[in-house]
Amino acid sequence: MHYDVAVVGAGPAGCMAARELASRGFKVLLLDKEGLPREKACMGLLSPEGRRLLEEGFGPLPAECLLEPAEALGVKVLSEGGGEYLLPFSGEGLWVRRASLDAFLARSGGAEVWDGCRVTEVTAGRFYARVRFLRGEEEGEAEATYLVGADGAESLVSKTVRPELYRLHTLPALERTVLVLSEGEADWDPRWLGLAVLARGERLGRFFVRAGTVGMAISWGQERHWQGELEALREFLSRRIGLALRGESVRMVSVSNRMARSGRFNLGAGSALLAGEAAGFLDPWGFGIRLALESGKLAGECIAESAGENVTPHLHYLRRAQPMLEMWAAGGRKRSAGRVGELDLSPWAGEKGRTARRDLRSLRRRLSR
Ligand SMILES: Cc1cc2nc3c(=O)[nH]c(=O)nc-3n(C[C@H](O)[C@H](O)[C@H](O)COP(=O)(O)OP(=O)(O)OC[C@H]3O[C@@H](n4cnc5c(N)ncnc54)[C@H](O)[C@@H]3O)c2cc1C
Repeated sequence: MHYDVAVVGAGPAGCMAARELASRGFKVLLLDKEGLPREKACMGLLSPEGRRLLEEGFGPLPAECLLEPAEALGVKVLSEGGGEYLLPFSGEGLWVRRASLDAFLARSGGAEVWDGCRVTEVTAGRFYARVRFLRGEEEGEAEATYLVGADGAESLVSKTVRPELYRLHTLPALERTVLVLSEGEADWDPRWLGLAVLARGERLGRFFVRAGTVGMAISWGQERHWQGELEALREFLSRRIGLALRGESVRMVSVSNRMARSGRFNLGAGSALLAGEAAGFLDPWGFGIRLALESGKLAGECIAESAGENVTPHLHYLRRAQPMLEMWAAGGRKRSAGRVGELDLSPWAGEKGRTARRDLRSLRRRLSR
């Protein structure tokens, strides 16, 4: 079976690339290893720019894709020293349900969708790609002129088309994150995502509290155990916002690609482009949906630009992704006074107190590492 484009991964990056291409008349195959809808460890905070991209591409989101309340205001930081800072979005964000959202995006983008289909091998040449996959017990393969690798942090496509970049930059930057969902309550406005800055910025914990559910996410390296990190966050939140957990909890472990923190990206090669976390697009706070959408759209546009030419889309992508890369490169982040990603740090930076300045310094240090 031959397609114009095979897209591996039906997260926001893959769905956006597929939609961009299918809407221009390309014959697109979108593959995902999971059956849709699939769960994804995610807090579900969509920034204003992410919301704009989604609504522009797919129209207003159906109610089943939104959490209640859906309005998202930004991030509220609690620091160990007693500080409390609001980092508002410049526009209106949304709280989304990832499983429903991603399934909606996959089904309404105009591509042929094969879910429950794990890609096991990729061959990518000049204007040629072949993917081999396993669907249940059955093996199969599909061919395409172009390939988009949107298969997340541990991308097989990235490993295959740019093994050197994967080894040198992605592998050392992979970080494990655990998200624990429990029944519980706290004194917290559900429109804000919480960020706890612990151990002088050495540890960050993200959390939300909504309609009797508490979500807590922590990342950890090899030297620490997630149980200890999580317990420290839980204990801190019970002191600061009266967090009380009860009943069972559900745990999801995920891997994030943090290579963008050091200003590195992997855009693919030739006719195989990478988008979303596969390319390293994850902002320093750990927000990735907006960047996945933006890079997926751009990858789709660059393939469309390349069609009929003898120039591979990677060259278009390198050129057109430049502003995005510069914005996220470590140096660029340091220069962006008052703003990191879509969050406005200026209210905090303007605080005169010694504690506030120390808290901000430790957070900046942590984010640029
Ligand atoms: C705990 C946690 C909380 C987060 N919270 C937020 C948040 O609140 N807001 C935010 O913006 N971001 C958040 N993020 C980050 C965000 O979830 C990701 O950056 C985003 O999902 C990346 O999108 P993507 O399309 O690149 O990849 P993904 O969403 O990871 O999608 C990749 C897809 O590829 C599929 N796949 C992988 N390998 C194969 C294969 N071999 N064959 C076929 N299919 C394959 C997977 O099944 C998956 O569906 C969070 C991340 C974590 C871990």
